[in-house]
Amino acid sequence: MALRKILTDEDPALHKVCRPYTVFDERLWGLLDDMKETLADANGAGLAAPQVGILRRAVIVVDSNDEMLELVNPELIWTDGEQEGFEGCLSVPGRWGLVKRPMRAKVRAQDRNGNWFEVSGEEIVARCFCHELEHLDGHLFTEHTDRLYTTKELDALMERE
Ligand SMILES: [Zn+2]
Repeated sequence: MALRKILTDEDPALHKVCRPYTVFDERLWGLLDDMKETLADANGAGLAAPQVGILRRAVIVVDSNDEMLELVNPELIWTDGEQEGFEGCLSVPGRWGLVKRPMRAKVRAQDRNGNWFEVSGEEIVARCFCHELEHLDGHLFTEHTDRLYTTKELDALMERE
């Protein structure tokens, strides 16, 4: 396993549509292992393959039990409700935006061996599913907000509440 470099939003890799996986081999497993190590090191909630420069449809999402879900070729198949909250991205360091997302979401995906499964999440996990899956189509959370806040501004806002 190895840490991978996380690309930031000026990198063209973050603005491309990623290709699906058709082969479930050591190359994919190595990427998933590296992504998990990189995500843990960065203390993030989710990471998509294009963020480490791989234009393929794979993401890691931290679930409500603090387990890392491996989602290969994930698709959002159901959403319900709405939430609004501050969101950030490891590829947009130090910037935060107020973003509306569904309160609940269900994803269909393949595991590292190609077996399909479904997984549901709510609140921060639902937010994370939506955020990470968008990365696979070249989209970032910054497209959903008019204003980005610095960490300092966000801290000041939180203190006021
Ligand atoms: Zn992100």
